[in-house]
Amino acid sequence: MGLDTSGRPRTELGTGDAPGCGPLRGARQSGAQPLRQQIYEQVRSAGHISRAVLAKDLEVSPGSVTPLVSDLLAQDLLYEVPDESQHHGRGRPPVTLGVNPGRGLVAGLKLSDHEHSALLVDLAGHPVASATLPRRDDVRSVESLLDEVEALFARLTEAAGPGTPPILGIGLGMPGMIDHATGRLRWSPIVSDRDVDLAAAVSARMGLPVSVDNDANLLTMAELWFGRGRSLSDFAVVTIEYGVGLGLVVDHAPYRGGHGYGMELGHTKVQLDGALCRCGQRGCLEAYVADFALVREAPIALDGALPPRGKVLEALYDQAKDGNEAAKAIFERAARYLAVGLANVANIFDPRRIILSGSRMRYDYLYAEEMLAEVPSLTLNRPPPIEVNAWDDLVWARGAAALALSDLTPRLLA
Ligand SMILES: [Zn+2]
Repeated sequence: MGLDTSGRPRTELGTGDAPGCGPLRGARQSGAQPLRQQIYEQVRSAGHISRAVLAKDLEVSPGSVTPLVSDLLAQDLLYEVPDESQHHGRGRPPVTLGVNPGRGLVAGLKLSDHEHSALLVDLAGHPVASATLPRRDDVRSVESLLDEVEALFARLTEAAGPGTPPILGIGLGMPGMIDHATGRLRWSPIVSDRDVDLAAAVSARMGLPVSVDNDANLLTMAELWFGRGRSLSDFAVVTIEYGVGLGLVVDHAPYRGGHGYGMELGHTKVQLDGALCRCGQRGCLEAYVADFALVREAPIALDGALPPRGKVLEALYDQAKDGNEAAKAIFERAARYLAVGLANVANIFDPRRIILSGSRMRYDYLYAEEMLAEVPSLTLNRPPPIEVNAWDDLVWARGAAALALSDLTPRLLA
């Protein structure tokens, strides 16, 4: 998706090959929700759909769909669109149903240690506006973080301009241990406070319902709602940014673990008594693959000519591209460890696909063909296809918007 200078999206957001947004699950996986919610979600994931196809997809009779659709239309949650593609000849064209985008918006916010980003989407998943805010270095307490959330939100609504539908909810994510179910932030590298009721604090400040999650889960939500995981029941998302994150989707829904703190693939051990990790333990996958692990080895490859902090990885990558063997070896070693991590994910979870996702995927040495070719030799069964999805920097905010939409839906339809 591109954005013009005003922050307004130029193109539609989505997978590019499928209309609508949200998980594309069949009737059998939708069964737990009330039929009314199933109808709304089915329409949203289809983009536009006729009543007849809707009933067929949900495996219910048209008679049971009709009154519920009428009710959703009366509440402005759905709207009717003439289907010109099916219109041959005279008379009124057949009508399809769509989620009414004008009913409201949700905001997705991603806080990070260098730049915060935000995306406003309507209830049909279309982007309305985006904004970014450089992070102030001195911000460490939750209270000052709330000031930044407010400033980011103000930029977002300003970019959207006047006359937009009401904002009905906020999804917010950041790195760290964040429990989506309780809204508690246990620990984050970008905040000094510990064990805070983050969702309640942001909600009190902004006057809106707020859902929180960790950044790996945001990325997983982006893949599940807008990306390559929409039609997959079970898949894993692995991301390499400041650490190595893992998100898991089971039966079309994110799996968040028994305590809701996410899956720490980066701190699974790949070497007993191995390299020191920033978590304080030794031999973690992250200690061989993450940024800090590559930067740690950079001085020798760069022959002491160290660029400023924050630019080291970039310089190392350029050197590797220019044929610097030592720089190349650093990336290749990291890639071999990543292959071990991916093989472990395949061995433990048996996902239908592993998606290597995030904006950092431009360091293509990390997922070179030779690296991916090592994975089968480390798994017992044939490993799942491994796909690379290199998103732009707004992917996290997009996932946060999906989080907000997902949590808003049952409230909206209650
Ligand atoms: Zn660790």
